[in-house]
Amino acid sequence: MSEPTFATPDLTTFARLDELGLVVTGQRVSTTRVVLACRVVEPDDWCHDCGCQGRLRDTVVRRLAHEPFGWRPTTLWVRVRRYTCTGCARVWRQDTSKAAPARAKISRRGLRWALEGIVVAHLSMARVAAGLAVAWDTANTAVLAEGKRLLIEDKNRFDGVAVIGVDEHCVRHEALLFRMEVRDHHRLVVVAAG
Ligand SMILES: [Zn+2]
Repeated sequence: MSEPTFATPDLTTFARLDELGLVVTGQRVSTTRVVLACRVVEPDDWCHDCGCQGRLRDTVVRRLAHEPFGWRPTTLWVRVRRYTCTGCARVWRQDTSKAAPARAKISRRGLRWALEGIVVAHLSMARVAAGLAVAWDTANTAVLAEGKRLLIEDKNRFDGVAVIGVDEHCVRHEALLFRMEVRDHHRLVVVAAG
């Protein structure tokens, strides 16, 4: 077997933050949790109304729960720039929708981890909430919404399926995500949530 090629260690890619349009600028690691300071890669400093360039006004911090590493919750502190337009005086902040939808408390990667945790790894919602270091209600609401968006609204989700079964293990969980089974493979498909 040939020697693998190693790239330079890089926390941004390790934590898959490049997929979220973020770059890590700092870390605070304790025995119980990790906080990663991030900034948004895209400057987003041109006014969408009049096309003039914005002047940096200040920065605000958006906190997002991210996927845990080694069962240790990881929280992102995303420093977001706010600009004032030099033409029309409009104020806006950098677009962070690649990292998480507006008003969401969990990053897109964190949400994906949570959904896979419930559906594939049979984690309880309490365990998922603990892994994200968020309240149970926050995890439950976000995971159900994501499951519905990603899976139930997928019109092709029954393609190639011969047998539909209800996994009682999943049903025991608070989320009541019913999983579909395709022969003996578990597939990440939610038939219904309620
Ligand atoms: Zn403007």
